[in-house]
Amino acid sequence: MQSRRPVVLITGGSRGIGAAVAQLAARRGYDVAITYRSEREAAEDAVAQCRAAGAAATACQGDVAVEADVVRLFDEAEAALGPLSHVVNNAGITGKSGKLAEASAETIRSCIDTNVIGALWVAREAARRLPKTSGDAARTIVNISSVAASLGSPNEYVWYAASKGAIDSLTIGMAKELAPQGIRVNAVSPGMTMTEIHARSTQDAGRLERLRPNIPLNRIGEPEEIAEAVLFLMSDAASYITGANIPVSGGR
Ligand code: NDP
Repeated sequence: MQSRRPVVLITGGSRGIGAAVAQLAARRGYDVAITYRSEREAAEDAVAQCRAAGAAATACQGDVAVEADVVRLFDEAEAALGPLSHVVNNAGITGKSGKLAEASAETIRSCIDTNVIGALWVAREAARRLPKTSGDAARTIVNISSVAASLGSPNEYVWYAASKGAIDSLTIGMAKELAPQGIRVNAVSPGMTMTEIHARSTQDAGRLERLRPNIPLNRIGEPEEIAEAVLFLMSDAASYITGANIPVSGGR
């Protein structure tokens, strides 16, 4: 009998880094559930691309900051594709860029609600479900952090950097807590990556180009380059790696 393809759930998989992870996972033999909050069309495109790569795929709508949505997202993904073996905790926002002193309560709160509270709901649900997924195949959680956690993002997104610092702590704690059950938990910390997150946070079209000289490899990263690190951590090639945090940042 042919063995079942492992199933991965990727939050915020409708575009950007999450969509790149979804497509690479589909090509590497995973079935894929993506979640999105608002852009159904983008989610349907991402699902179509996964199916074109030979995967079973589904899109589930929900806000990761809402506890009940997260439980439902996991229920829907498992109902469509079967028990989950991998979770990529990716959904994230920055909020409108600017100095901390000028940031609105809404900017700070929505960033923390999505990036910290949301990531914790997703992590908790993964910690409840992955231990029940049987089989010898790998079970992993990959949290998407940011090099901002150590750089601090002064004058732009101090609150966002703080939210990603929380992801780094979450990764270490979860890795130790879930190791006895054979579940590996790691993080990937992207540097500047070419996605819509930048256009959504600032009207400053020249910003990325101005920041480029700060990147030792002297270019902005592509979502596919982040996805490669995520897929590595999910794979058996990383079987002795847990609690790690891989920067994919062009050396920044
Ligand atoms: P994008 O803005 O391109 O995509 C974000 C995704 O997250 C979308 O699918 C969006 O869905 C979803 N999302 C946002 N908020 C929520 C929410 N509350 N509930 C559910 N889904 C939500 O971002 P990126 O691909 O650039 O970012 C992905 C991750 O990588 C984030 O965690 C980000 O912090 C991190 N990162 C990105 C870097 C970069 O330079 N791009 C650098 C370092 C880290 P919808 O549109 O439907 O709301």
